Amino acid sequence: MQQLLDGYQRFRADVFPKRANLFEKLAEHQKPSTLFITCADSRVVPDMILQTNPGDLFICRNAGNIVPPYGETHGGVSATIEYAVMAVNVQNIILCGHSDCGAMKAVLSEKKHDSMPTVDSWLQHSHSALQLLKSEASQHQKWTNKEMLRALTRANVVSQIQNLRTHPSVAAGLTKGTLNIYGWVYEIHSGEIQNFNSQQGRFLSIDGNTTPVPVVQPRLQLMAS
Ligand SMILES: [Zn+2]
Repeated sequence: MQQLLDGYQRFRADVFPKRANLFEKLAEHQKPSTLFITCADSRVVPDMILQTNPGDLFICRNAGNIVPPYGETHGGVSATIEYAVMAVNVQNIILCGHSDCGAMKAVLSEKKHDSMPTVDSWLQHSHSALQLLKSEASQHQKWTNKEMLRALTRANVVSQIQNLRTHPSVAAGLTKGTLNIYGWVYEIHSGEIQNFNSQQGRFLSIDGNTTPVPVVQPRLQLMAS
């Protein structure tokens, strides 16, 4: 806790005064361009990875960067998406998975966690990604556990994008052409981001010189590497 309090002291004393104009501008309104949906993992820090400022990203986080299909659960994720699209008018939704994801490891293990029934129930939203992985994995007998995890993480991003498209606000935005969806995976060890190219059915590195393409049809060709 002391580390957090020390950080807060530095924020009040050093950081806030230097950015006072920005915070004053943001005090009564926000106009972020992007809804960023990612995992709750402490190692994924969107504002650091993208070098964004307060006010730039509307962020929704949960274990496994999951988006339940519309109508199934009227929970926080669905409400955040609807608000971001209808009230905040974001133009982009980025759904970002990451390497070494604990939620994806739990899905892959297929173990029941008796002490965590809520987690088990939540992770069921990733089971369609697991099914896709299993059907592909049977053709790739030599996949290691690490490769399976890598492939599941990517299948999960694509599967959650399919769920995202079932939300009426998102479907309307896509039809009107006012909204783009991107599927990303962040590699913790290298800091690299890969973008899902739905035409090629695979994830490609964002190299800084090319604009990542939005998802058109979320179909995935799973590859271990
Ligand atoms: Zn995670």
